[in-house]
Amino acid sequence: MALPMPEIHTVTTSDGVALTLTRYRGGAKGPVMIAHGAGVWSGMFTLPTIDEHFADYIVRNGYDAWLLDWRASVKLPLRQFTLDEAAANDFPAAVRYIRDATRSDSIQAVVHCAGSSAFFLALASGLLPEIRCVSCSQIALHYNPPAATQIKCAMHLGEILEKGGVEYLSADEDPAHPAFHALFTTFVNAMYHQCDSPVCHRIFFMYGELYRHEQLNPATHQRLAEQFGKCNITAFRHLAQMVRRGEAAKFDYGAAENLKRYGAATPPSYVAPEHLRIPITFVSGALNQTFLPISTQRTFDWLRSVNDPALYTRHVVPGYGHIDGFMGCNANRDAYPLFLEQLEKCPA
Ligand SMILES: [Zn+2]
Repeated sequence: MALPMPEIHTVTTSDGVALTLTRYRGGAKGPVMIAHGAGVWSGMFTLPTIDEHFADYIVRNGYDAWLLDWRASVKLPLRQFTLDEAAANDFPAAVRYIRDATRSDSIQAVVHCAGSSAFFLALASGLLPEIRCVSCSQIALHYNPPAATQIKCAMHLGEILEKGGVEYLSADEDPAHPAFHALFTTFVNAMYHQCDSPVCHRIFFMYGELYRHEQLNPATHQRLAEQFGKCNITAFRHLAQMVRRGEAAKFDYGAAENLKRYGAATPPSYVAPEHLRIPITFVSGALNQTFLPISTQRTFDWLRSVNDPALYTRHVVPGYGHIDGFMGCNANRDAYPLFLEQLEKCPA
């Protein structure tokens, strides 16, 4: 179906970062904020290469879709940030903007990967009381990556790269640093052999096997560079810290600085249940090799043990990896309905 014309809105956060919200007025079922992961942008929900992308699907089902490009978006200027900063600033600003623009008391959210991670930091901190319910893709407050990622985190790869003057890793071509980029590409091409796309190999190195090749049609695979770009090293480091710890916590600046900022040598955890007493659905790809499905299982089990278990639902999508639940050519049949199910349970 043809989407309604997009309306582009700019939201400036309290720390001065300009974010973009792209609105597709779909119907009267209320606003839904939709947030992408790291190193990508909201284009992952409007792929031109699949028959029905996620924005189409949400609009067709009668919702007012608001696609957020938060500070991790590759369409915004690259900046170093911790997920704490994104959580404290981006999501509260975006939610309030949507609520004001639509004159709604509350809104719903669909959040993916690092966008889900940062969103849950904000939600668990009590910064998003206007969120009525959430569909969460792949990760929330607990982190279980496969062994290859654990090794990279254990090596403190982010710190090593940062000390070497590397400010980001890029999945697309990077004319600014040709020597480093050529070395990086040679290295990843030697590591991965499922296809002959260097973009694809860089993506797999940066994030683990982010999709099942069989779920992407050839046109999507050929045009991956349109979706992926730079991911800043600070956000990478924060994600790696949380992976090593196994759960969401504030950025670890080192004991001395932590003492100053947090009054403790180790950063405080975000895992607290009181602000999470809303309906939440967790969706993991059964074959996710970026964050294993047990990641959402742990958040789901923990929430059901501390809050009313009836609030929480979890689905595992057979045959899917991490981002193909949105970018796969059959995702509208296999995955989108699982995100929609939660929205339908919480009418405006
Ligand atoms: Zn490939």
